[in-house]
Amino acid sequence: ASPSDRIAALLTSFPDCPEPGVVFRDLAGVYAEPGLLAQLAGHVTRHLGAGFDRILAVESRGFVLGSALAVLAGVPLTLARKPGKLPGPVYEAAYDLEYGSDRLELQKGAIAPGERVLCVDDVLATGGTLSAAAALVEAGGAEVAGLAVVVALAGLGGRERLSGHPLLALHEVT
Ligand code: IMP
Repeated sequence: ASPSDRIAALLTSFPDCPEPGVVFRDLAGVYAEPGLLAQLAGHVTRHLGAGFDRILAVESRGFVLGSALAVLAGVPLTLARKPGKLPGPVYEAAYDLEYGSDRLELQKGAIAPGERVLCVDDVLATGGTLSAAAALVEAGGAEVAGLAVVVALAGLGGRERLSGHPLLALHEVT
């Protein structure tokens, strides 16, 4: 089965979570499926080839696909983290969530100027999180090679908001 079909079969939905009107898509079954993470990482690397020099994975569920990709592609892995977690000087980027708002940080010097960086997260909703990740890459003088997510949720404006960068979604929920 294709990556998209396998994800669709394993994704579960929780209505009114974490608040009324929001449907939470749970990827726990996707991560728990033996061999699937390797298939997903393989799909991304086949599509993007040698088009990126580094992975920037978003805390915390973006760390899962991000790690698998870094192992498979043999490129460095850097973590974009929630506020206050990283030591030393950091770049900051604020963003609005589907529910609430937050900030991402990246250690200064973690990404070399001119590098082509692939930003990775689990779910794309409104695109706020990945646009903050992209802003961190650019703050470091590097280039956003693309954005990769396990699941993209349609109808929340994420694709439109991120239209400046190539986006690879392994599965789209319409
Ligand atoms: P966005 O910033 O609105 O695109 O939301 C994406 C971020 O929120 C990602 O880091 C996700 O982990 C999280 N998120 C938003 N909606 C969901 C969902 O339905 N399931 C799992 N994570 C979600």
